[in-house]
Amino acid sequence: MNFTPRTRLSRWAVGLVLGALIVPLAACSTPSSSSSASAGKLNVVTAFYPFEFVSQRVAGDHANVSSLTAPGAEPHDLELTPKQTASIGAADLVVYQTGFQSAVDQAIKQSTPKHAVDVASIVSLQAPQGTVDLGDGDDDQYTKDPHEWLDPTNVETITNAVRDQLSTIDPSHKGDYEANAAKLVADLQGVDNSYKTSLSTCTQKTFITTHAAFGYMARRYGLNQIGISGLSPDEEPSPTRIAKVQDLAKQNNVTTIFYETLISPKVAESIAGDLHLKTDVLDPLEGITDKSRGSDYLQVMDSNLTALKTANGCS
Ligand SMILES: [Zn+2]
Repeated sequence: MNFTPRTRLSRWAVGLVLGALIVPLAACSTPSSSSSASAGKLNVVTAFYPFEFVSQRVAGDHANVSSLTAPGAEPHDLELTPKQTASIGAADLVVYQTGFQSAVDQAIKQSTPKHAVDVASIVSLQAPQGTVDLGDGDDDQYTKDPHEWLDPTNVETITNAVRDQLSTIDPSHKGDYEANAAKLVADLQGVDNSYKTSLSTCTQKTFITTHAAFGYMARRYGLNQIGISGLSPDEEPSPTRIAKVQDLAKQNNVTTIFYETLISPKVAESIAGDLHLKTDVLDPLEGITDKSRGSDYLQVMDSNLTALKTANGCS
């Protein structure tokens, strides 16, 4: 699109007439989740949302940050296009987590990025906690629970690693990366403090969720997670497992069955319905969509805390 208004008046008139077009044009010219690099900016490719959030906050204006997992897509079973695989090789920095998304692990092996943060090598990954184990053959796909980002102190570790990599790659903006990272760490410490303060007062310590993503959160804040269908959100729980979860709900005086934004609430509703319990969202932060309760990691963590406080009787 190309027009050159010759007078101030015609520029004004064109501006009026095309006013509605300007906004979409402006939006298109801002690379958000595109991996195309603008001149002078670094190109950071991240595996999924929490790493995209951290990278955007630390890089500020100095990088185009993209996510391999589209908003609203399920990161557990990500598949990559050839173009995405190529974008990994072309990136200045890749932020990913070995053992979480096998397509990403393979692509990293194929097209060795120049710089990478492998979160699995800087955060201590723990064994899964709180899945209902009935020995019924519903094996989970992970020996280590990948959902480390639901403990905000782990996100601090990732923030510092991204800061260090960006400072190495682009030393002329080291001061900005350090300042941005310090601000984010302060925000994350704020989240951690709210969780610590609020969740220490809960009358109930147990919560039940359809996606057992909250083991790190439970561990840090002294709660007990019961996951209905294990760690992979697409697993259908067996009738035996549902009956077992209902028993546990009764034993632990659980008021609420939690489900996540990206997945159908049907399983939660069927369990809750029988027991006349409530259902509510506990978001594993694997992506942000217009259905998310908040527009970024910090806001959704805050919404999760509100939901937990209500369900578990915390002040
Ligand atoms: Zn998950």
